[in-house]
Amino acid sequence: MEFIEALKLRSKLLFLFIFITLGLIIIGIMGYFNTASVKKNLDTIYFGSFVPVIELNNILQVYHGKVSNTIYKVKNSQMSQELAGIQIKEAISNIESEWKRYESHFKRDYELQYVEYAAIEIAATNDFFKKMTFNISLDSLVMENFEARVEHIHNIIKKLINYEIELAKYERKRFLSVYDKLILNVGIILSLTIVGVLIISYYVFKSIQKDHTRLEIATKNLQKANKKLENVSYTDVLTTLHNRRYFNFVYDRELKRAKRTKSYITFMMMDIDYFKQYNDTYGHVKGDFALKSVAKVLKDTLKRPSDFVFRLGGEEFGAILTDIDESNSASLAKEICQSVKKRGIKHETSKAGEFLTISIGVVCSQADENLDVDILMMRADEMLYKAKENGRDSYVITTNVAKIE
Ligand code: GH3
Ligand code: MG
Ligand code: MG
Repeated sequence: MEFIEALKLRSKLLFLFIFITLGLIIIGIMGYFNTASVKKNLDTIYFGSFVPVIELNNILQVYHGKVSNTIYKVKNSQMSQELAGIQIKEAISNIESEWKRYESHFKRDYELQYVEYAAIEIAATNDFFKKMTFNISLDSLVMENFEARVEHIHNIIKKLINYEIELAKYERKRFLSVYDKLILNVGIILSLTIVGVLIISYYVFKSIQKDHTRLEIATKNLQKANKKLENVSYTDVLTTLHNRRYFNFVYDRELKRAKRTKSYITFMMMDIDYFKQYNDTYGHVKGDFALKSVAKVLKDTLKRPSDFVFRLGGEEFGAILTDIDESNSASLAKEICQSVKKRGIKHETSKAGEFLTISIGVVCSQADENLDVDILMMRADEMLYKAKENGRDSYVITTNVAKIE
């Protein structure tokens, strides 16, 4: 049953429906052949051998044979009256037992009347013969009576035989038609059930398909929403740069990658010069605007897909760059400083110049397994401090990533 476990929901249901449909079809075929053979057997047993006419024929034969023969023999003096009496008694008792056997067969209500009538007539005929055995005078009147009696009882029994045969024929026809109707009904019910199963399967599959599509759409929407949420949670609202959260994640990841591939990694720490004074002079709103402007410079300068720029907090920014060496890193830092100044954001209270400027601490090194996790940040911070000390609006770069003991 492991293979059922492995199936998808739709395939599982398909398997179930095919199984049920095939089961019903097989039941139908087997049922048809079995009932056909049962029908044949019943037909032969019930109507082939058991139509109750054997006893009636026997009775007829005894009347025509034994009884009549005996009387004719006496008449022709070929037999003594005494012997004839014994033989007729025997014949009558034979008739009585055959009749009893006939009567013991199942009789329908509407048959009973005629059977009773026949029984009375047979009893009367038998009485007639019993009396004859005491006194077979055999004159022409008696003979006439005797022949009329035999004829009479012959007609009655023959009628009974014909009646039984007609009845059997009628019952057989009725039985076969009831049987055929039954088979037809079972066939119809089975076919309707199969059609019903197929219709239900169709709707179940359609509904599963619908659910599936809905689920797919919902999943896609959810994925989109998650992506949006992820972007929001990793983005700084003011500058739309990556935020500190994302920095923590990317710093770790990129450092590991650089260590693994022994490639260059550069980290820049940037801080706007005299920004407190800027805010004090121009107000917070302008301050925010200046922050956005600097962020734009950073985005435009560091635009390779492998460059990551972050707002680390306040007026501090960070950048992680991979696969560029010291001289390229230095040129980028220089370019950033120049571009910020070129923006021409007036800063009257700055001691570094008439426009807003930025200072950058840069560390660049080829990574290896020994590279300390925190050293890049520490060195960049140190270099930033140096740049500030050097009069700001500048960068200082180092390739020294030796661990401080
Ligand atoms: P330095 O040249 O030494 O960096 O001097 P500074 O004035 O820039 O240094 P400091 O860190 O003392 O000042 C940072 C200022 O940045 C303080 C605060 O007024 C301002 N600031 C921090 N975050 C924001 C912000 O989101 N919006 C605005 N408008 N100002 C901010
Ligand atoms: Mg600062
Ligand atoms: Mg500052």
